[in-house]
Amino acid sequence: MEKLKNIVKDIVLEGKLSDWDGYNTPAALKKEKQSKGKNKPEDSITDLDLNTKNRNLTIKEYSYGPINPADEVGSKQFWKDKAEMWNTTPEAAKQSRCHNCGAFDQKKSTLTKIAKAIGDDGKTIIKNANIGFCEFFWFKCAGARSCDAWVGGGPIK
Ligand code: SF4
Repeated sequence: MEKLKNIVKDIVLEGKLSDWDGYNTPAALKKEKQSKGKNKPEDSITDLDLNTKNRNLTIKEYSYGPINPADEVGSKQFWKDKAEMWNTTPEAAKQSRCHNCGAFDQKKSTLTKIAKAIGDDGKTIIKNANIGFCEFFWFKCAGARSCDAWVGGGPIK
């Protein structure tokens, strides 16, 4: 797992959010300019701009999504694309999400840090969105989403 983690980390650090044309979150682009890749994974737990930068990069480079997993119609194309990439059906692709990914960190200590950083409603938000910390791409991700780097065996508890 550690070896795989380092491989993915190296790939991520090669990519830049600003390499992507089109709309992107202004705060995330500003953060990329300021931080110059010198952040530690856990920094994004308390820094929303950094978290958004890492998340947006994962959307662009690893097709993280869909935006609203509860919206079956709006998510249809997303799962169709995932199925095509993994040579399977959309229904089978839907079984592989962040909540059962090997990089999805839901350790009590991690969730406590996330809740504290969010504030008063931290625990409720974590529960409602089934949040965990992505150890590959260093951002808080929602359990019902997925990405192209999904690996089995999760979550980390
Ligand atoms: S937890 Fe897994 S599936 Fe979710 S964004 Fe991270 S690597 Fe991708």
